[in-house]
Amino acid sequence: MTPNPSPAPHFAIAIDGPAASGKSTLARLLAMRLGLIMVNSGAMYRAITWKVLQENIDPQDAGAVAGLLDRIAIQCGCDGMMSTIAIDGIDPGDELRGEAINGNVSVIAAIPAVREKLIDLQRGYLAHASIVMEGRDIGSVVFPDTPYKIYVDADEEVRAARRGDEGQIDSIAQRDAADSKRTAAPLVVAAGAVILDTSHHTIESGVAAALEILKQQGLAIIAG
Ligand code: C5P
Repeated sequence: MTPNPSPAPHFAIAIDGPAASGKSTLARLLAMRLGLIMVNSGAMYRAITWKVLQENIDPQDAGAVAGLLDRIAIQCGCDGMMSTIAIDGIDPGDELRGEAINGNVSVIAAIPAVREKLIDLQRGYLAHASIVMEGRDIGSVVFPDTPYKIYVDADEEVRAARRGDEGQIDSIAQRDAADSKRTAAPLVVAAGAVILDTSHHTIESGVAAALEILKQQGLAIIAG
C-alpha cells in the first residue's frame, strides 16, 4: 500500500487588536507580501449581526440569536486572497460596515453560541491554506498554538481619526470596552504575542516592523 503523502502543513498568523488599530490593513498587506489568504474574522461577527437585525431579532436575546444560528447557512470562502462571508447565499457587502452593525456587533460577539460557531469556521480555513487572520481572539483562542502572533495597537485619538477618515460612525471606545470586558474570549494580548504600536508608523514602516516580528518568531520570510 502506498502511504499517503502528508499534506503540506498550513499555518496561521494571528493579528489581534482593538478597533481601527490598523490590523486589517496590516493583515491584508502581510497576506499579499507572504502569498497567504487574509481572513477577516470581524466580518463574520458583522454578518451574523446583519442577519439578526434583518430578522428583527433583539441582539440582547441570546437564546433567539442561538436559535437563528441553527436555521441559517454561513458560507465562508475566498475570493482571490481575501476571505468572503455569505449568509444563506447573500453577501451583505458594504452593509457590514454600517452604523447599525457597528452599534450592535459587540453584543452579538459576546454570545458564546455565536463564538463557538464562528471559531469552528475560522479554524476550518487552515484545512485549505495558510492564512493571516485578524480579529480579537485569534492568538488567544482560535489559534493559541501558532508561534506567529502580533497585537496591533494605536493611541485612541489616532484610531478615532482613522475611523473618521473612513467616513464611519463608530463608537470605537465603547466597542473596545465591550470587547475587552466580556467573559467569552475577551480582547487580550495573547501569550507570546508581540505588541506593535502603529500610532507613529506609516503603512509601509508598519508592515516592515510586522515582518521583522514574524521573522523573530521564526517565520521564514522570502525577501522581495
Ligand atoms: O474587526 P471588526 O472591527 O470588524 O470587528 C467587529 C466586532 O466583531 C468587534 O468589535 C468584536 O466585537 C467582534 N469580533 C470578535 N472577535 C473577533 C473579531 C471581531 O469578537 N475575532
